[in-house]
Amino acid sequence: MSGPGYQQTLGGLGLAAEGYRPGTPPAGLGGDAADVDGPAARESHCPECGRTGRDYRPWYRPAHMFQPGSYRAFACCAACGHVEEF
Ligand SMILES: [Zn+2]
Repeated sequence: MSGPGYQQTLGGLGLAAEGYRPGTPPAGLGGDAADVDGPAARESHCPECGRTGRDYRPWYRPAHMFQPGSYRAFACCAACGHVEEF
């Protein structure tokens, strides 16, 4: 196993299968929200183990055909692996 435990949890959500890719979304697709969500995650507390400061893991799906783009963000605890969506 390598990396924080939440990597496996994130992978298990099936985001990639739904067309999402990891990374900060472009402006207009949640880029503005990312400016807020990033610091919020880093200052937040893990509800599972109480650790302060979680990793911010943004995902987004570009608009395609008639499907609008989408942005999803997760606060992930490197200590216990807990994953919480914003
Ligand atoms: Zn935790």
